[in-house]
Amino acid sequence: MSELRVRFAPSPTGYLHVGGARTALFNWLLARKQGGTFILRIEDTDVERSTKESVDAILEGMKWLGLEWDEGPFYQSDSFPLYKEYVQKLVDEGKAYKCYCTSEELDAKRNLAMQEGRKPKYDGTCRERTEQPVGQPYVIRFRAPQGGVTSFDDLIKGTITFPNDELDDLIIQRTDGTPTYNFCVVIDDASMRITTVIRGDDHVNNTPRQVQLYEALGFPVPQFAHVPMILGSDKARLSKRHGATSVIAYRDMGFLPEALNNYLVRLGWSNGDDEIFSRDEMVQKFDIHNVGRSASVFNTEKLLWLNAHYIKNGDPERLADLLLPHLSKREVTTLNGPDLMAVVKTLQERAQTLEEMAERAVFYYNAPTGYDDAALAKFDKELLVAVLDTVAEKLASATEADVHGIDALFKDVCTEKGWKMGQVGQPTRIALSGGTQAPGIGEIVVTLGVEETIRRIQKAREYIAQK
Ligand code: GLU
Repeated sequence: MSELRVRFAPSPTGYLHVGGARTALFNWLLARKQGGTFILRIEDTDVERSTKESVDAILEGMKWLGLEWDEGPFYQSDSFPLYKEYVQKLVDEGKAYKCYCTSEELDAKRNLAMQEGRKPKYDGTCRERTEQPVGQPYVIRFRAPQGGVTSFDDLIKGTITFPNDELDDLIIQRTDGTPTYNFCVVIDDASMRITTVIRGDDHVNNTPRQVQLYEALGFPVPQFAHVPMILGSDKARLSKRHGATSVIAYRDMGFLPEALNNYLVRLGWSNGDDEIFSRDEMVQKFDIHNVGRSASVFNTEKLLWLNAHYIKNGDPERLADLLLPHLSKREVTTLNGPDLMAVVKTLQERAQTLEEMAERAVFYYNAPTGYDDAALAKFDKELLVAVLDTVAEKLASATEADVHGIDALFKDVCTEKGWKMGQVGQPTRIALSGGTQAPGIGEIVVTLGVEETIRRIQKAREYIAQK
């Protein structure tokens, strides 16, 4: 094991967002690549907004993506005593102080500063206070360094420098005694001995405050890597407005985890012109230094393309398992019908999602209850009846029921009767599936079985003859 220790630290206030999943993936990849440790920490200090459902949804999303963690999940809410201890330590060392300013006073000062064109910043009233009022509520503020700068070398963005005068004396403990967000993050990252913090770049502005806290507490400052945001097609931050943003929603829409991981790793990271990465290749090739500095745009078309690639090349047995929930959703049971793996094989060439595959698999298990009349209307009624009768008759005496043999049988029918393949194949496909969107005729017949095929052809023939 290397010394590398990274963490993913979601706030459980919703589902696992694709942006969060990408952050988790980058952390996971770096840990796996370097033989380091990947820690999961649930940042649930915001008790009002944090929920158990959200924790479950996040864990479910992580597991589905296969981003297994080595330690945790740790919950910030379990560490309140630890945070208190460190607040006290800073107070004892004179590095933090009690502030008795009321919110009304602070508001008034802020308004005045804005009117006078100054930056609204805490004016330090309590910073140098010598007498402590008794029985008055207070917050605890960090005595931030004045003058000079705080800077850090970001692995993605390079050196980032903030003038200290722009940073307030941060509140680290509220009036009710609870610690604040930036303080908890520092205590956690330090006590978990995190060496590299990879997170969204919406946290860049928190970082100088956190660096100051590390220094005041005498903790080593970790490395930082701030990953640019994911945007929607209109270049606004990716949100529900743009479509699904939850990892689990993608699962339910029939995406494979390897496709989503592959898509997410390429959002912001590149390795030459390569687009397809297996899990192992990702681990081997991932380099946090090759994450770009600018935001990336989420492109559903590309995700679909990758998903189609993984479905096409996927193991039929696994795909069959993954397809089951999509079939139950359509109230399809596969017990009395063809082997699902065989069905998958006929569909995986062309399906972009498992939802699409399930939709196209339905006819194998549920015989059509109606037919595409518009497609049937393209053929002469007499011809349709003759075609279906001939096909049924030929199939009844077929000796070779493999795809090759069945395809040959259809060719023979065409030659014998002087029909074109389109005049035979399409009506049969409609008879078997109800519509025209179906795999090759030989594949359908073999998968359905000759008997069921004949039954369906006869039923369709009755329908057509009675029209
Ligand atoms: N809980 C923070 C978030 O969900 C992450 C903080 C961090 O990674 O430092 O945005």
